[in-house]
Amino acid sequence: MSNTYTQIKINEFFTLKEFVAEEDLKAVLSNPFILSNIIELADILERLRKKIGKPLIITSGYRNPEKNKKVGGADKSAHLLGKACDWTLEWELHERENITRNIVDFFRNNDYIVGEFICYFKNYQGKWLPSRFHFATPFYADGIKHKVFLVSIEKTKKYKPFLSDPFLALQQLIGLI
Ligand SMILES: [Zn+2]
Repeated sequence: MSNTYTQIKINEFFTLKEFVAEEDLKAVLSNPFILSNIIELADILERLRKKIGKPLIITSGYRNPEKNKKVGGADKSAHLLGKACDWTLEWELHERENITRNIVDFFRNNDYIVGEFICYFKNYQGKWLPSRFHFATPFYADGIKHKVFLVSIEKTKKYKPFLSDPFLALQQLIGLI
């Protein structure tokens, strides 16, 4: 089991292992709803990965309820359904404008796939830099698609919604303008 597990590819860039911990594998593989959510999520991230041209490092994918509680996730967190993941990437300072633009453009221009998109920022030598991203595929409540762009300052977890132009808001936050 273990050997196969590490090799299961969801698509060109992502393996199942990146989204599901080994201890959860059995439960996820026997739950078609969660499994298909993870595949959908990974496919969107594959498209983003191609656009950015850099590896996306998944830091948290599917969470079982116990793990979700431990990391302080919301009671109804999309992570519990395999509909959300947190990721980061390694970048040089001079790349940040381009990469940030690509990320925001991707989510802004793909209306139909946008669910929740949160950037967590960390203060780095006097500048706010994106440190982590959270992306969730759309979920529906009463037939209404939730479409949310949010930014967050690390630690406070106080969300500030993008009011007009998310890229402008991002640029302001990271101190480019
Ligand atoms: Zn998350």
